[in-house]
Amino acid sequence: MLIGVPKEIKNHEYRIGLTPAGVSELVHAGHEVLIETCGGASIGFDDSQYKAAGAAIANDAETVFATAEMVVKVKEPQPQECQMLRPGQLLFTYLHLAPDPEQTRLLVESGASAVAYETVTSAQGGLPLLAPMSEVAGRMAIQAGCHSLEKAQGGSGTLLGGVPGVEPARVLVIGGGVVGVNAARMAMGLGADVTIVDRSISRLKELDTLFEGRMKTLYSTRDALERHALQADLVVGAVLIPGAAAPKLISAELVSRMKPGAVLVDVAIDQGGCFETSRPTTHQNPCYIVDDVVHYCVANMPGGVARTSTLALTNATLPYVLALASKGLKNALEDDRYLRDGLNVHAGKITCKAVAEALSYEY
Ligand code: NAD
Repeated sequence: MLIGVPKEIKNHEYRIGLTPAGVSELVHAGHEVLIETCGGASIGFDDSQYKAAGAAIANDAETVFATAEMVVKVKEPQPQECQMLRPGQLLFTYLHLAPDPEQTRLLVESGASAVAYETVTSAQGGLPLLAPMSEVAGRMAIQAGCHSLEKAQGGSGTLLGGVPGVEPARVLVIGGGVVGVNAARMAMGLGADVTIVDRSISRLKELDTLFEGRMKTLYSTRDALERHALQADLVVGAVLIPGAAAPKLISAELVSRMKPGAVLVDVAIDQGGCFETSRPTTHQNPCYIVDDVVHYCVANMPGGVARTSTLALTNATLPYVLALASKGLKNALEDDRYLRDGLNVHAGKITCKAVAEALSYEY
């Protein structure tokens, strides 16, 4: 199969769909790979490395989209990319369609088949292609939160770990999945007082065992969230209902009663955000303030550490790219029902139940 990888065009997005090592694996399996020129240059993967791995280099995105049977990307296609897709072509990338009716409409109209990284499942029950970026975003959430707590950023001027004789900051992590556990691990590593909230009791038990009680676990109720949000210095939003928009767990009214200079990091912003006052921001302008509470809501956090993220993403996606390229979409999905869960759009129809429900499409 001919696999095309365009350069990402979203604001401050430096990741790329395949590393040179990933290209080499595909070429060894008998496939052709076309990379848009300079696609990975800003993170140390230049055209010469891709050529050495066996790829051809295209001068522009138009050539990649026009030639490729499968397009492998990182971020959801932008409107001009959607226009270049054609019926029968396969797109394999993050989509996050539930909160994005415009992109959904364009993909449906394109007639292409779109497999979304974030809804591919696994026999173990997790989301294997969301996990590597969630690990990155969870770890970054604490870096971003620490920085935002500084006075110059509008924060309360609180050091996360405190110092001997001064109590540490209180960190509330909402959602104890991959983002949440990585955020909690970093926050504990810096010496913060960490509470993690989830609505899954079995997950809370696992976390309690994993961290040997060094972190507080709490069942997610409105009351628990309110009490702990009012005391928190830093709140990380890390919930997920797969394929659906994030539930709004902290209201604007509750934000207005939080400590002045407290920080909200809404990692779930790519699914619409779990704080009522959240709106997507970029790495260029990551924060804004509502009622004296600093909001960090970057929708593509892993893009900020694009080299680490690209390496981690290709590690996870490569087996699926190989399966799709070697077997074709139909056979690959028939052979792997977990990969089948990734199919969001096919031949002008929505094929993911949660997306169809969120956006009132026929399913
Ligand atoms: P996950 O499925 O591993 O974890 C989500 C957790 O949220 C689960 O444990 C679930 O039980 C819990 N949850 C669901 N509803 C809840 C509620 N009402 N109260 C408390 N907990 C609740 O998902 P993840 O991989 O950790 O991803 C979390 C979010 O981060 C997703 O929205 C994902 O899209 C997003 N994400 C964003 C970025 C970014 O750059 N902004 C990067 C990676 C992931």
